[in-house]
Amino acid sequence: MDKIYKALAEIVGEEFVSNRKEELYIYSRDSGLSEPRFPDYVVMPRTVEEVQKIIQLANKEKIHVVPAGASLSLSGLTIPQKGGIVIDMRRMDRILELNRKGRYVVLEAGVTQGKLQAFLEENAPDLCHSLPEAPPSATVVGNLVIHGQGNLTQAYGFNSSMISGLEVVLPNGEICRIGSCSLSPYWFSIEPLPYLAGLFLGWFGTTGVITKVGLRLYPKKKLRDVELFVLEDPKLVSEVIYRVTHTEMAEDITTVAQPYPLMFQGTIMIGIYLTGDTEEELEFKRRLIWSSLSDLIKAKEGGFMALTPDMKVGLLEKPMSSLTRSADILKGGGFVYCGAIIPIEKFPEALKKLFEIAERNGVTFAHTGRVIGRGHCMMFAFAYPFNRADLESMEKAKRALFDSYVATLEIGGVPWKPGAEEQKLILERMDKNSVELIKRIRELLDPNKIMNPGNWEVEL
Ligand SMILES: Cc1cc2nc3c(=O)[nH]c(=O)nc-3n(C[C@H](O)[C@H](O)[C@H](O)COP(=O)(O)OP(=O)(O)OC[C@H]3O[C@@H](n4cnc5c(N)ncnc54)[C@H](O)[C@@H]3O)c2cc1C
Repeated sequence: MDKIYKALAEIVGEEFVSNRKEELYIYSRDSGLSEPRFPDYVVMPRTVEEVQKIIQLANKEKIHVVPAGASLSLSGLTIPQKGGIVIDMRRMDRILELNRKGRYVVLEAGVTQGKLQAFLEENAPDLCHSLPEAPPSATVVGNLVIHGQGNLTQAYGFNSSMISGLEVVLPNGEICRIGSCSLSPYWFSIEPLPYLAGLFLGWFGTTGVITKVGLRLYPKKKLRDVELFVLEDPKLVSEVIYRVTHTEMAEDITTVAQPYPLMFQGTIMIGIYLTGDTEEELEFKRRLIWSSLSDLIKAKEGGFMALTPDMKVGLLEKPMSSLTRSADILKGGGFVYCGAIIPIEKFPEALKKLFEIAERNGVTFAHTGRVIGRGHCMMFAFAYPFNRADLESMEKAKRALFDSYVATLEIGGVPWKPGAEEQKLILERMDKNSVELIKRIRELLDPNKIMNPGNWEVEL
């Protein structure tokens, strides 16, 4: 029997390791447009000690490892570029602690968004975490590693800023804790210690395997509502967002622009989500937001759209995709996006680029966006549907996607969760000393170069 397979089976048990092509298939691809590549093994550990042993084995045998959650990044971040072992973290799915008064939870790395949401609804209905619009099977840790965003991002920043502690297996197999949990039983804060968490977030699993996370929770109000502000002039978007964020009354703020259905063409919709414990609280917040925009409404620059109860239900459940679903007019269910993190004042330029890219590549599109941290920046998605059964449609979407990454960089933005090819575009343009620092950190942490190769790979 293959000696690596045998060693992995000794670590996790035969049931939780595989080298069978039909079982590796699902780990060789994701639902985006990246080229599939097969791993040699997949393994599903249950404990941090098992992860440690897998990493020790990988060092000894000089075999690559790729940590994976639900592989839903859409940019191929868990596709093993150079083969090796995919470590599927989803058996490590225990919620270890809920500290209600300190408003945090401690989770294992395989806990999914759906599991955490259901757990909080049952055990702490007045608390919530920042929920992305990803499928409920996506892992909380996978989302933090890529600096994801959720419904609380407008108020509190990227979801990764809500981390209060980490446990990581380093590329040499050592287990390391970060934050208050490194010197106390409590997982309440990363600060005020040296900010080591930055060595593991945004690195796409190239610097270690996160095994536990402390995550901050926030007050969950009993009621939620939504208002849609509709306008035509893209130049006004940053002004509207500035005013609404300045009231500090909104929970979440999203943007949508799309060519279909035709009644939406030429408009930009800004979704403003409100929460409150009573109708009075909601009404108070709504009034402040409305009055912040009253002169624009009077000048007929924009206005609030009347929403039917049905539309509200859809929007409240899926703030962005309930609108863009109607733009996904191609058969086949494929969908990719380039998330550009941009200053909000760049919205008009980004939208213009989206129109140009869609026209040049002959594809349809949808734009969705989410305001980050009280208007400090936004995620601007250039999104393209495609038909999986139609190779030409896939090629067109792929070209449009690549052009969108280039456009993001041209307007001074930063591509979010870039795939391996797009990471190269970023590194080419990055300050050379920053690139050198990335290289040195990787060499220091991972001298055998076993961790998720192909990602943030610096070739100097
Ligand atoms: C329809 C749809 C809607 C989406 N909406 C949103 C949204 O609103 N907001 C948002 O932020 N995202 C969104 N996403 C993107 C993505 O699905 C989510 O961010 C998701 O939470 C990623 O989690 P995952 O488990 O799939 O991570 P994976 O794709 O499995 O992993 C992501 C990265 O993290 C690394 N990684 C995973 N686990 C570990 C670990 N334990 N240790 C070290 N590295 C690790 C992987 O190697 C990879 O580089 C959406 C995706 C889809 C398909």
